[in-house]
Amino acid sequence: MSGGETVLVTGGSGYIGGWCVASLLQRGYVVRTTVRDLAKEAAVRASLSKITDPGNRLSFYAANLTSDDGWDAAVEGCDYVLHVASPLGVADPKDPNDLIVPAREGAKRAVGAAIKAGVKRVVLTSSVAATYKGATHRGTMAEGKADPTGDWTSDETVWTDPSAPKVSVYAQSKTLAERAAWELIHASSTGTTLATVNPALVLGPVTSGDFSESVQVVERLLSGRVPGIPRLGFNVVDVRDVADLHIRAMTDEHAAGERFIAAGQYAWMGDLADLLRAKMGAGAAKVPTRKVPNFVIRLAGLFDKDLGSVSSSLGVKHDYSSDKAQRMLGWKPRPLEETIVDCANSLIANGLV
Ligand code: NAP
Repeated sequence: MSGGETVLVTGGSGYIGGWCVASLLQRGYVVRTTVRDLAKEAAVRASLSKITDPGNRLSFYAANLTSDDGWDAAVEGCDYVLHVASPLGVADPKDPNDLIVPAREGAKRAVGAAIKAGVKRVVLTSSVAATYKGATHRGTMAEGKADPTGDWTSDETVWTDPSAPKVSVYAQSKTLAERAAWELIHASSTGTTLATVNPALVLGPVTSGDFSESVQVVERLLSGRVPGIPRLGFNVVDVRDVADLHIRAMTDEHAAGERFIAAGQYAWMGDLADLLRAKMGAGAAKVPTRKVPNFVIRLAGLFDKDLGSVSSSLGVKHDYSSDKAQRMLGWKPRPLEETIVDCANSLIANGLV
């Protein structure tokens, strides 16, 4: 428990930010959160109230990743900062700076304010997208990793090359933001330390209709909004376990200066569809059974930006290891089935599918 320490969570209106706020409150912390617009406070409180009662330990501050205003006031007097806010985007925007600038400059603003205020530690929400080996990485015989399929397993020692071909703008934005945060910490002298949490595909219970793009994977399957099942796979991680890892990375002395991948079991879309059908009964009536061949998605991707952005991942297993978080911080991701069933039930209970 916290002893009344104060934590700022940026982006409490978001999926992961909201669960971080709730988990901190449940553990006795005093919590501040930033939102772009204070008019969102009522909606965020309503969403949080489905998880916990904040009492008088939660307050709201206005701060935008694209402006200097408000950051110093939000951070002043905090013991820790969880910098979670950043724009998401599966499809590449026309102008890469629409994602890159808020992500990178926002990270600099949040981490810079934390250093200035002398907080003990910042935990930055990065992504496995910043630990990407590359679309065509096949390893070498010398590395003992040669794999003609293009499959690979990555870990925290790997850094995405933002200039490599087929690296999405979102992956660039997360890599450049994380790099900028490390550079600021390394150049600082106030003793503030940094750790990063790099989640894979985050699923689990939602508490409002304003959910993250990642949840669309389950939402689209349940509502039958996909014509068939592509051969795409991901490491799934539960949003509650992601929040838990942020708090472990915030408080464990050994976490300072470290990156931690938050990834659970690897699952193909077909596995998720099978799981929904097996566990959700009538709730899974619209989940498609038809498999869509890779060439069809690639062809459709020429015309549809969302499909185009996933074409290079079709049929290959890009796996991310969370051994480090489990070994160093005692973190334990819950079973895939619990995450998917709780995600589906929450979408149904909130009338979202
Ligand atoms: P989300 O629900 O869309 O939340 C994004 C948050 O960022 C929201 O609070 C949003 O505020 C805030 N934000 C966006 N642009 C902003 C700006 N210009 N100024 C201030 N705040 C801004 O997404 P999420 O899944 O929780 O993502 C949170 C973090 O986790 C991000 O850093 C993301 O890259 C990372 N992540 C997510 C996943 C995943 O699968 N979901 C995986 C890996 C990493 P508004 O409510 O005002 O829009």
